[in-house]
Amino acid sequence: MCAIAGAFNVPNASLVVRHMLFAMQHRGQDGAGIVSSHAGRLLPAVRGFGGVDHVFADIDFDTRLPGLTAIGHVRYPTSGDPKSEANLQPMEARRRSGDVAIVHNGNLTNARVRHHDLEEAGAIIRSTSDTELFLHFMARSGESDTANQLLAAGAKLEGAYATLTLTQEGIFAMTDPWGFRPLVMARCGDGYLFASEPIAFDVLDELELPEGTLPSITDVTTVPQGTIVRVTGGEAYVQTYMRPPLSRFCAFEHIYFAHPASTVFGQSVNAVRERLGKILGWRNTVKADLVTAVPDSSNAAAHAFAQAAGIPFRFAITRSHYTGRTFIKPGQKARQLGVRAKFQIVRELVKGKSVLIVDDSIVRGTTTQKLVKMLRRAGAREVHMAIVSPPVVHPCHWGIDTPERKELVASQIEQGALAAHLGLDTLTYLTHAELLEALEDPKQDRHCTTCFTRVKPIHCHKLPH
Ligand code: SF4
Repeated sequence: MCAIAGAFNVPNASLVVRHMLFAMQHRGQDGAGIVSSHAGRLLPAVRGFGGVDHVFADIDFDTRLPGLTAIGHVRYPTSGDPKSEANLQPMEARRRSGDVAIVHNGNLTNARVRHHDLEEAGAIIRSTSDTELFLHFMARSGESDTANQLLAAGAKLEGAYATLTLTQEGIFAMTDPWGFRPLVMARCGDGYLFASEPIAFDVLDELELPEGTLPSITDVTTVPQGTIVRVTGGEAYVQTYMRPPLSRFCAFEHIYFAHPASTVFGQSVNAVRERLGKILGWRNTVKADLVTAVPDSSNAAAHAFAQAAGIPFRFAITRSHYTGRTFIKPGQKARQLGVRAKFQIVRELVKGKSVLIVDDSIVRGTTTQKLVKMLRRAGAREVHMAIVSPPVVHPCHWGIDTPERKELVASQIEQGALAAHLGLDTLTYLTHAELLEALEDPKQDRHCTTCFTRVKPIHCHKLPH
């Protein structure tokens, strides 16, 4: 999972992109980068490991990244070596038709095959990231127009992608035919903005820039699936290149990843999370003294659960805001240390009490096991858990870092034995039908739920298991 952002014909574009990336830091903390276009050419990108604050701490945007147009990326490694600098984005290349840079959110499911094809054909590949494939297939397309190059690349690639491509002409946004990953755009004066989530636009409200106040942001809209949007002048040119009858929006965006103040895939993230909590709360049978959330991603669901179940809600688990998201820390050890550093228990609330934790999901079980131990050590008499999603039993191939089934605790341990394995008194999950109810998608025309069902949403080229 990553975030992408772009600004076209906007004053201090790279600084604006920096602010948007910072607002979407919850989608990736491992790397960040921005490239801008100025005086008819692309300038060298600024990229680095770490968060936006860190990477751009000493950057003078006026001198390093000037211009009215820029794109950027925050990275959460789901493809390619996480320690390789070559995998950081934006990725740049030189084509016959001019310089190009690209940022990408999502995972390509046929990347291994396409890498092999290119190497067999003599291509020199500089990274292990799937994103580089776009550049190769664009350059080899024989087309001179950037939109046609992207279409040719898209025809070779399968999987999830929301991309922004920067050339000296402007920005080209492209989404995959199934719409796995969110992408939104807006007008900003005479220019345009793009972002993975609309929360990125909210932080720009009345932003003071070296060149004056940013124009008002209007006409916020979703970039639909199977679409290329070209912004190279005063108007956006929108081209639908494929429109399958179904969508496959990632259900996990609503459950965990997206910001609660965002609207993704046309629905408020907070409203979906409240429905998830309410549905599970209605059928709760556990007589707990209090319900608590695992902040921040389960706050809305836990509060709604408590109301529906008629149990008092208390903030018994608090979190440090100086650590990142534990799920997106690469490596089990880093995640375990992350959990301990991140969460603290309010002892007086739990001592001698039966505590019911509401969490968004259990993936590896790392967070749950640690939290249960911490609650018991703080004196909790009973620890129950309600999960507002079904058991995660299958890896994601479309951009979330759950690469192997053996890492998924619910796939390795029988449902009946899972509560004991995690140290819980009871464990309840949402059903798949209830998840679809909360997503308001009863016939499942719109959402991908493969990680809960093992049913693949689309034809996939040799998916690993
Ligand atoms: S498999 Fe799960 S995490 Fe991956 S895209 Fe589908 S719903 Fe999202």
